[in-house]
Amino acid sequence: MLRVGLSGGIGSGKSTVSQRLAELGAVVLDADRIAREVVEPGAPALAEIADRFGAHLVTDEGALDRPALAAVVFGDESARRDLEAITHPRIAERTAALVGGAPQDAVVVHDIPLLVELDRVGDYALTVIVDVPEDVRLHRLVELRGMEEEQARARIRAQADDRARRAAADVLLPNSGTLEELRSRVDRLWWDRLVPFEANLRLGRK
Ligand code: ATP
Repeated sequence: MLRVGLSGGIGSGKSTVSQRLAELGAVVLDADRIAREVVEPGAPALAEIADRFGAHLVTDEGALDRPALAAVVFGDESARRDLEAITHPRIAERTAALVGGAPQDAVVVHDIPLLVELDRVGDYALTVIVDVPEDVRLHRLVELRGMEEEQARARIRAQADDRARRAAADVLLPNSGTLEELRSRVDRLWWDRLVPFEANLRLGRK
């Protein structure tokens, strides 16, 4: 098995890259999705969140009220740490179960937006960073996603900067050009780096 960490700033094209890698045959794990699954209605973590922060964080339908939770932990370090103590072990457990369930010869790509911020580079044999200058990402978030410009700027500011991400990369996937260019870069990454790397790994050559 080859474990690949895939990251990049908000709006850089991580989902586009992971979708193409999935088409090529990778097993893709989506960190954002796993983080949502561990607090879905009925999950033990959701009950713990309600115990710690108040029952008002669970809607009448039994779902987590995300904006209300964000308001509770915003700017409150100790609340944020308590929240992470509830969610992180479950996220780790679920991620490990998904990795364990993947075929032995799989290329497992973990789409993890905060890979650099969480200092998780060591978890992967290869770190792939989708690299797009901030102004291009800002434009895409506002024009294609309909995000408010101020919100997009704040989200970008809250993350690691491009230099820190580049420093963590084994492979950089520039994505300032067209979607077709990105796709051929991903295809080349798959055939030139990931498939041979995995085969060598399996044969004990690396
Ligand atoms: P997030 O950080 O919010 O999860 P992401 O890194 O997963 O975002 P995507 O959702 O893949 O990024 O891409 C952001 C937006 O930019 C999408 O609307 C996507 O279609 C578009 N996009 C990605 N790459 C390109 C490109 N090369 N040219 C034009 N649009 C692009």
